[in-house]
Amino acid sequence: MDSARNLYLAVDLGGTKVAVSLWMDSDETIPRQLGESTSWSTFQDGPGRNIDSIVEAAAELRGQHAQGVRLTAIGISGGGPLNPVTGEILSVPNLPGWVHVPITRILSDRLGAPARIENDANACAAAEWLHGAGRGAKHMAFLTCSTGIGAGLVLEGRLHRGARFLAGEVGHQVIVPNGLPCGCGKQGCLEAYASGSGISTRLKPFREKNSRLPGTAKELVEAARRGDDFSIEFLRETAEFLAMGLANLVFILDLDRLVLGTIPTAAGELFFAPLREALLRRLWPEFRQGIDLRPSALWPRLGDYAALAVARDLPPLLRDVAP
Ligand SMILES: [Zn+2]
Repeated sequence: MDSARNLYLAVDLGGTKVAVSLWMDSDETIPRQLGESTSWSTFQDGPGRNIDSIVEAAAELRGQHAQGVRLTAIGISGGGPLNPVTGEILSVPNLPGWVHVPITRILSDRLGAPARIENDANACAAAEWLHGAGRGAKHMAFLTCSTGIGAGLVLEGRLHRGARFLAGEVGHQVIVPNGLPCGCGKQGCLEAYASGSGISTRLKPFREKNSRLPGTAKELVEAARRGDDFSIEFLRETAEFLAMGLANLVFILDLDRLVLGTIPTAAGELFFAPLREALLRRLWPEFRQGIDLRPSALWPRLGDYAALAVARDLPPLLRDVAP
């Protein structure tokens, strides 16, 4: 084991799953993961047991793969509203007890290395921009597209966090006036139509009439792959909604790269073909030049890479607000 190389702990802290992985700088551009990630379904009784488990997983991984090597930094990619400057998780949707948790201080004290936290959409954007489908882009948005929809923006090589660390809440742009209710309390948000939860809600009335139809995004993609006409058409309609949101982003930010996360990446060309067509149709010819729409290149390991990017790569990506 090379004790002179930097060692990083990456913590992907989600509402449904926590994953911890260990990485070491290598001669390649991308650090090398040491062993497998350790993951568990998020304990629902507050931060205590989850934090203990992160510390235990870190000790176990270091014992197995990097004995005697000092930990250089800890990166946390977090799903809820958080303050990356103070290192505090403000809340986690659907998880009780995660209110104003100073997670970076706690993990730093218990693991003996500096810790940093970043919103997961931003962390994923940084990872894709550095090592994945965003490489070479000048103005890039990464969209999560799983249970919810959020974006991380890397503009001119800098992560754009916004005035309140809320930049990229693109899932809550209204695309249908007085449309479907959204989890955020508004109506007609993009997330209510094109996210995993939005897709389930839109499928519900069809499934009530015919129980053999898909009920979730995962089932929808599987059925479309088998050639089911209803599912292919439903995916096409979903692509139309998402294209509205993406076109708005391109009109505002003049992007050259759009990278999409879980659901579109899992669906592949079945979804990307109608999405690309719908997006180009909605853009002015000037915007169509050099606009590149791609699936995530790091999925399904994007969560680990995102947390690694927080530990290792964020400071040069941040302008003016480096914590
Ligand atoms: Zn909303």
